[in-house]
Amino acid sequence: MKDINKKLLVSLLETPSPSGREYGVEKLVEGYCLAKGYEVEHAKGGLLITKGKPPEGENYPCFAAHLDTVFDDRPFRVEEFVNSKCEPVFQGRKNGFRCGIGADDKAGVYACLHLLDELPFCKAALFEREEIGFLGATEITTHRLSWFEDVAFVIEYDSPCSNRHTYTCSGKRINSDKTFIEAKDLLEENGVTVHSNDPYTDVLALASAGIECFNLPIGYRDWHTDRETLNLTELAKGIELGKKLFEKLGLETKRRFNR
Ligand SMILES: [Zn+2]
Repeated sequence: MKDINKKLLVSLLETPSPSGREYGVEKLVEGYCLAKGYEVEHAKGGLLITKGKPPEGENYPCFAAHLDTVFDDRPFRVEEFVNSKCEPVFQGRKNGFRCGIGADDKAGVYACLHLLDELPFCKAALFEREEIGFLGATEITTHRLSWFEDVAFVIEYDSPCSNRHTYTCSGKRINSDKTFIEAKDLLEENGVTVHSNDPYTDVLALASAGIECFNLPIGYRDWHTDRETLNLTELAKGIELGKKLFEKLGLETKRRFNR
C-alpha cells in the first residue's frame, strides 16, 4: 500500500471540527478531493465523494467516517512518538498539556481519502454530527439514500484499537448472518477477534435504511479523553483490511437487508 500521508493526516487532525461546526475540515477535504478530480456533493448531513465508475456488473466499494469530534475548536499540535513495539503514534498537546486529537474519527476520514487515492473507483461518505446522535448520517439516509444505490456495501472506520469491530449497534445487527459468516475468517486472521456490541455510530442509520455495513478498527485509543492516541501502524492495517474485505466479499452483489 501507499505510505501514510502524514502531512494530510496531521492537517485533518489539527483542523478542529466540533459537532455542528465541521466546515473547516469539510473545506480541507473538498479541496483535496477536487484537486484529484473526484466528484464531491456537499449534502445536508455531510460530504458524498465519488471516484471513477465500476465496470459493468460491479458496484462501488464504499467507505465511511464521521467529520466531527467531541473536542472544541481551540488549536493544538499533534506530536509523534514511538511506542514500545517501535510503532509510530500520534498524541496531542495544547498549552503544554496533553489533549485529545479527535482521531475519533479523523483517522477514519484519513482512511477514506487514502482509499479513494488507491482504488480505481470508490465512494466515500463523510458524516457530520455523529457524536451528538449520528444526525448527519440520519439526514443523508433520509434525503440521499439513492446515492448508495450502486454500492456493494459500506465499511465505516469508527471502531477503536485494532482488534474490534461492531457486531451490533444499539442491539441491532449491521450486516446479515450470510455476510458476517463470509467475512468472519478474514476479520479474525487479521486480528479482529472482538465482535463488539456498541452503542451507536453512523452505520446504525445505514443499516436501518437497509444497507449492510461493517465498522472496522482504525487505531485510535482513549478516545474522548485528553490521553487519546492514534497508532499509525494500526491505521495502515485498518486500511488494508478494508480493501481485503471488499476483495473477499466482491462487488457483484448489493448486500441489503430484506426490510
Ligand atoms: Zn467516532
